[in-house]
Amino acid sequence: MSTPLPGDQHVGEQDRADSPVEVELRWVRMTLRRPHVAAHGTEVDREVVLVKVVLPDGITGWGECSALARPTYTSEYTAAAWVVLRDELAPAALAGRPSEVVGHPMATAAVSDALLDARLRRTGLSLSRALGASADRVPTTTVIGIAGTIDDLLGRVEGVTGGIKLKIRPGWDHEPLRAVRSAWPDRWLAADANAGFTSSDLGPLRALDDLGLAYLEQPVRGLVDSASLAGRLDTPICLDESIDTTDAVAVAVAMDAMAVVNVKPSRLGGVEIAREVVAMAVEAGIATFVGGMLETGVGRASAAAVAALDGCTLPTDLGPSSRYFVDDVTPAIVGVDGCLCVPAGPGIGVEPDPDRLDEVTVAGVTLRR
Ligand code: MG
Repeated sequence: MSTPLPGDQHVGEQDRADSPVEVELRWVRMTLRRPHVAAHGTEVDREVVLVKVVLPDGITGWGECSALARPTYTSEYTAAAWVVLRDELAPAALAGRPSEVVGHPMATAAVSDALLDARLRRTGLSLSRALGASADRVPTTTVIGIAGTIDDLLGRVEGVTGGIKLKIRPGWDHEPLRAVRSAWPDRWLAADANAGFTSSDLGPLRALDDLGLAYLEQPVRGLVDSASLAGRLDTPICLDESIDTTDAVAVAVAMDAMAVVNVKPSRLGGVEIAREVVAMAVEAGIATFVGGMLETGVGRASAAAVAALDGCTLPTDLGPSSRYFVDDVTPAIVGVDGCLCVPAGPGIGVEPDPDRLDEVTVAGVTLRR
């Protein structure tokens, strides 16, 4: 199914003449509308690195490194990503050579997605169409972080429409899910444990089987334990943190470790690898959706293009900008009737507003060829 994308060639074959003449890095900090509490920690401010590339003909493109501030979701974190981008990935992109960097998929995605955005802007084609997507809107589910009390939780669920995914962790698992299920017996409901449990927590996890969850996301960290759990629970297992490469997808499929996969383009190293993972999932009969990383408008627009692929069969976690930020760094990515609107303009379809970008920038550096 892979339609070649501009610059879509094996590493090392990049056309040096079309490598960027300038790479600008912006470390931005934006306060979330409300702190996001999950098993891996609490996010109050969202700190990401935005990457702008300038091609020799002046065309620009944007990408986002969506690593969290602390290495508690995956091993990447903002400060380390900044150094890797500044000292390794940006110089390699300017030189038109492979970076030789091992790991760091979110930092890598920021550069590769920025280059793809720029090359698509040159052609006038939107990222979603370039990836092979045809949908203009994608159904969403609302992720609700760990609340202070059951009453807080029910109040938050009451305030939103459509499907709900609750963040859970040991001690905040069956009771909140049961409360939501009791209040809304027919509502689409899923749970995300962010690897907060261990293989010895079989009892509490089995207790969730009677709640009619669409899936239980990443209950434990490893693939072996995930496969073991998948064979013991009735609830479909979804994997997120464990799936960081196409190789991990192949292993998880071979081990029957998941019935659902959360495709996060940033965690996988960019939208092109994400498209490949969606295709692998379709081939293996695995249900698929695009998960969110509390992205700014740059990462959100990019991920929305992947979520628009036909292979993404479950509602995306991505929501409109207004769910996360009072004022996004780009024009807001908007939602209509419970769906996210996929930007239709060239490339990712949005660009940061220069004034807003300056307001939220805490560090910046520009590298030139
Ligand atoms: Mg997750």
